[in-house]
Amino acid sequence: MYEINVYDLRSALKYLNTSGEKIDVIDQQLSADCEIAAHYSAYGAGVPNKSNLNHGNPVIYKNVKGYSVPVLMGLFNSRSTCAKLLGLDHINLGRELSKFVVDGYVPQIMDNPPCQENIVTSDIDIMKVLPILRYTNSSAGPYITMGVVYAQDLETGEEDITIHRLCVQGKDTLTIYLIPGRHIEIFYQKAKKMGKPLPITISIGVDPAIYLASTFSYPVTPLGYNELHIAGALRKNGVKVAKAVTNDAKSIAYSEIVIEGYILPDEMPENTKCVDGDSLPEFLGYIGKAQKSLPIVKVSALTYRNNPIYQTIVGPGSELSNLCGISTEASLYKCIKESVTDKIQNCFCSHSGGGKLLAFLQFIKDSTIDDAKTRQAGIAAFAAFHELKHAFLLDDDINILDERDVLWAMTTRFQGSHSIISIPNLNGHPLDPSQSPEFSSENPIEGTTYKTVFDCTVPYKMKDK
Ligand code: MN
Repeated sequence: MYEINVYDLRSALKYLNTSGEKIDVIDQQLSADCEIAAHYSAYGAGVPNKSNLNHGNPVIYKNVKGYSVPVLMGLFNSRSTCAKLLGLDHINLGRELSKFVVDGYVPQIMDNPPCQENIVTSDIDIMKVLPILRYTNSSAGPYITMGVVYAQDLETGEEDITIHRLCVQGKDTLTIYLIPGRHIEIFYQKAKKMGKPLPITISIGVDPAIYLASTFSYPVTPLGYNELHIAGALRKNGVKVAKAVTNDAKSIAYSEIVIEGYILPDEMPENTKCVDGDSLPEFLGYIGKAQKSLPIVKVSALTYRNNPIYQTIVGPGSELSNLCGISTEASLYKCIKESVTDKIQNCFCSHSGGGKLLAFLQFIKDSTIDDAKTRQAGIAAFAAFHELKHAFLLDDDINILDERDVLWAMTTRFQGSHSIISIPNLNGHPLDPSQSPEFSSENPIEGTTYKTVFDCTVPYKMKDK
């Protein structure tokens, strides 16, 4: 770990600029309605495995039709940039990051926070101020995709930060997609039972450490663990947070932009033009389906820094795979090391799996029993990260960041007869299209999947060959 002075988006961009990283500035006037997303596709978007590990510079669109606010995309495109922004080494990024999943970095309340330099609480029209992108012609609407949602449990006061997709439905109205079981969804269901709206803030344009911390999920960051502690540990200082102007929630003090509001107990369709229509392009490389019914967010305030930058992301591509995958690597490494074997050396969640469904796990075998322990670790990986589908076990001489090396191991250290452990009818990721009864009669219901360990390691007794 090396010292860097990054605490918000601006200091991150400055740090990249002064350390030789290139940020592309586009002067051409483009519309937030599909034009920027189309232009950007040459940089970062594509099927997950089309982009290499360090694909595309970050891009700033300076001249957005009808807006004075610029749009930033692709900040997390490159794995080495992600590592640099955290002060860590990119080869062992997940392994190094796992050391920062600790307690003790309590967020610090800041008075007069920069994110409240400008405050709008009446006649709110978020699309008037923010160049929120619509990605494709069939998308349900403009989507906020880099909003860190910050909420508290109404009863216990436990806090959580998570990125959720938010579709603009009106001047001061959004829908929020809360996948069941995510911590803010649990807070929301509890508030709904009490008949109360859940106060939230949505922080856009924050310290990259906060974005990466917000992608951790259970069991590594259990219910009640505020992921801001991870960002605080990385920066050796509790994250500065602000009291919201219009509700009891807190926001990230150095955010470029904050939307304050309430998740209402009421719901509406995500795509109001076509209930069976699209949402937006998703991380696994397919266009997502709109949800039939989603909770409504009523906006109570819009606050922002002077000359704010609007940051966003579009799936699929290397940026989304990095954001999803780096915390998954940290989670897998930490759980396997603590609960199964300390012979795990490293872990990489390949972009081919969108960062979530495919993991390459690397081990050093020192004895015959390690053959079994390695396989045990493969099974444990599915408990360490619930959305994982394929776990590859690999030796320490394999470059796990290179899929050619991984497939070489699969060709020469793997037999289809017995190097596979496959477990049927487990809970899969809702966006994987192969887990439906339509794909195979082996899937009894929508959302069930086989999870498979591919043991591509040499048996210990043959290691000297
Ligand atoms: Mn959480």
